[in-house]
Amino acid sequence: MPRRPDHLYPRLPGGSAAIPAGPRRSGAAPSMIVETRLRIATACIIAVMAAIGLVPHFVNASVEQAMAALDATTTREREYGALLNYLSDAEAAQRGYVITGRQEFLDPYHEALKALPALRKALAGQAAPASERQALDEIGRLTEAKLAYMREVVRVRSAQGAAAASALVENGRGKQYMDQLRERILAQEAAYASYRAALRDRLAGRSRLAANVSSIATLVDIVLLVAMGLVGGSALRQRRKAEQHATEISGQLRVTAELAERRNFQLQSGGEMLHALELAETLDEGAQIVALYFRQLLPGLSGSMYLYRHSRDILERKATWGTANDPDIAEPLDCWALRKGARHFTPSTEGALACRHALAAGTTVPRVCLPLVTQGNVIGFITAEGTALGNEDNAAERTWIMQLGEQVALALANVQLRVSLRHQSVIDPLTQLYNRRYLDETLKRELARATRRGAPLAVIMLDLDHFKRVNDTFGHEAGDMLLRNVGSVLLQAIRGSDVACRYGGEELVLLLPDCPLDSAVARAERLRQVIRALNLTVNKSVLTASASFGVAAYPTHGDAADVLLQAADAAMYAAKHGGRDQVCVAPVARLQEDGG
Ligand code: GH3
Ligand code: MG
Ligand code: MG
Repeated sequence: MPRRPDHLYPRLPGGSAAIPAGPRRSGAAPSMIVETRLRIATACIIAVMAAIGLVPHFVNASVEQAMAALDATTTREREYGALLNYLSDAEAAQRGYVITGRQEFLDPYHEALKALPALRKALAGQAAPASERQALDEIGRLTEAKLAYMREVVRVRSAQGAAAASALVENGRGKQYMDQLRERILAQEAAYASYRAALRDRLAGRSRLAANVSSIATLVDIVLLVAMGLVGGSALRQRRKAEQHATEISGQLRVTAELAERRNFQLQSGGEMLHALELAETLDEGAQIVALYFRQLLPGLSGSMYLYRHSRDILERKATWGTANDPDIAEPLDCWALRKGARHFTPSTEGALACRHALAAGTTVPRVCLPLVTQGNVIGFITAEGTALGNEDNAAERTWIMQLGEQVALALANVQLRVSLRHQSVIDPLTQLYNRRYLDETLKRELARATRRGAPLAVIMLDLDHFKRVNDTFGHEAGDMLLRNVGSVLLQAIRGSDVACRYGGEELVLLLPDCPLDSAVARAERLRQVIRALNLTVNKSVLTASASFGVAAYPTHGDAADVLLQAADAAMYAAKHGGRDQVCVAPVARLQEDGG
């Protein structure tokens, strides 16, 4: 199982929690307080407005009352004025009659006598304070006296003449009555006038009070409105702040979710890639796998993977993804990542420590190179480029790529180790031919395939002639050299699908899929000639060789691996017995008889 990299988990700045905390509970309380305050302010404003609405009503009632009182006062004043006028007119008329004796002078007197009862009744009928009633009684008494006196004067004038009447007038009683009446009536008039003035003052006071109450109420309303505005504004600000906070949180959550999704994908895909690398048969296949997955894992980037070739001390580009234009070949010193043995990041090839392979690619975009090195052994390097790498926000992504590169290097080292172990387990180190174990496995597999497909398959067994003599004459080293040469001759002569094996000692086997018996015989004959033509120099002596060949084939000689090998072996021994350096085909009939 691939190791799960911790760094792939999303980490939020400034905290370990992946999910940001929700709005704090204390945040709700102030907004509730504000709403309550707003409600109270609204209720106060409505109450004050209603009170202001009621003020004119009360002021009107009071003013109407004062106006009515004022009217009544004016009427009383006018009545007192009329009383005094009638009495004055009557006195003047009586005086004119006394002097002239003419009846027409008495007209105002009669008029006054006619009007006075109603006037006096009106004055007495009104509800009046006790002091006025007392004054009214006095005025009434004096009026009666005055009228009686005037009646007496008129009677005397009419009966006794002007002198008697003048004498009566001259006693001064009439003037006395009139003076007293005038004094009392004017006092009443003055009392009413001052009462009227007081009423007017009261009216003015009421209207001032009404104006003041209205002004104060309006001021209170303004203050409340301003307070409400302030409280409302603060509530709005708080609400806006809460909304902004909520928007920020939802934004953070969305970013976190996207990040988590991406990380999840990278984790899963990275795991798949490492698993596929575990199963890779060759480093080239590993490079193809890396290219395939890097294309998915780093969608904005292009890049290549280079593998080191020991035999030539160069790096070959084995896979490319995206639009990378990396050169086919690089030298180990071309890449700074390989020189340093660590990741090398170039923000831009201009003015930075750029790798030579990057300069050869001809792009200037940011680039990262990852060395594929394990335990000091260079496997190759990965190079990736793209503008996204230059973004400072992608620092975590760059770290992740680097760690992924380390894991890829380890996985590829495993591939290399597996390839090498597998090579060691199936390849004979002296001849570089496959060993007998590999032949046994492959022959069985190829026979099954040939049977399935109805295709032929041939086996050629060959054994070097008098090889013991070679060892004895030229030495064991020379024998090894001859074996190496025969091995390389065989490898050069066979097709890609053929398998050449060292069966044991100087005994070799060729497995030829899709090769019928006669073709196999012809090819054995050619090989015999090639081996015969070998000409090696050992200690200034010439060493030549020959081999005896036995050929058997499926389906002619059987369909089992051991049967075919035995048939080829028997044919090879027949060739030995036949004088060596020749090709023999396994006898068909005899084998079939043996088999039966
Ligand atoms: P024949 O023509 O009958 O095959 O005679 P031969 O001498 O080749 O046969 P024999 O089986 O008597 O001898 C085989 C010799 O091959 C014996 C052994 O020492 C030698 N031999 C086997 N493996 C190696 C090897 O790896 N290196 C060397 N130098 N010699 C080997
Ligand atoms: Mg031999
Ligand atoms: Mg032998």
